[in-house]
Amino acid sequence: MRDCIFCKIVAGDIPAGKVYEDEHVVAFRDIQPQAPLHLLIVPRVHLASLDEVEDTALLGHIMVTAARLAREHGVSQGGYRVVVNCNQDGGQTVFHLHAHLLGGRFMTWPPG
Ligand code: 5GP
Ligand code: ZN
Repeated sequence: MRDCIFCKIVAGDIPAGKVYEDEHVVAFRDIQPQAPLHLLIVPRVHLASLDEVEDTALLGHIMVTAARLAREHGVSQGGYRVVVNCNQDGGQTVFHLHAHLLGGRFMTWPPG
């Protein structure tokens, strides 16, 4: 989609610290990390938010990829958090579906 920053990262048109990609998803480092490990896992297809998702296999693949990346980056035993912010009250700022993988520090609850 034109003017979508994550579509441009997926296409390789703007640089990002990509750590993983396959035919369905791309994972890269958040530009403003909120934890020692802060990755974003995004589908290659443009979906504006979780509210638009009907593809359960794709959503499952995003979650399983997050778990695998957590293991590969050494945070799974200590623990981590996977977050999907949806729309304005959910705190979403980039309207291309993405899961945050946060790890490497203790996470408080509830989130702000
Ligand atoms: P949201 O608030 O929509 O859940 O999360 C969007 C995330 O994207 C934020 O954590 C923000 O730091 C990150 N972000 C925004 N623009 C860019 C960018 O150009 N490159 C990267 N790597 N991350 C970005
Ligand atoms: Zn997009």
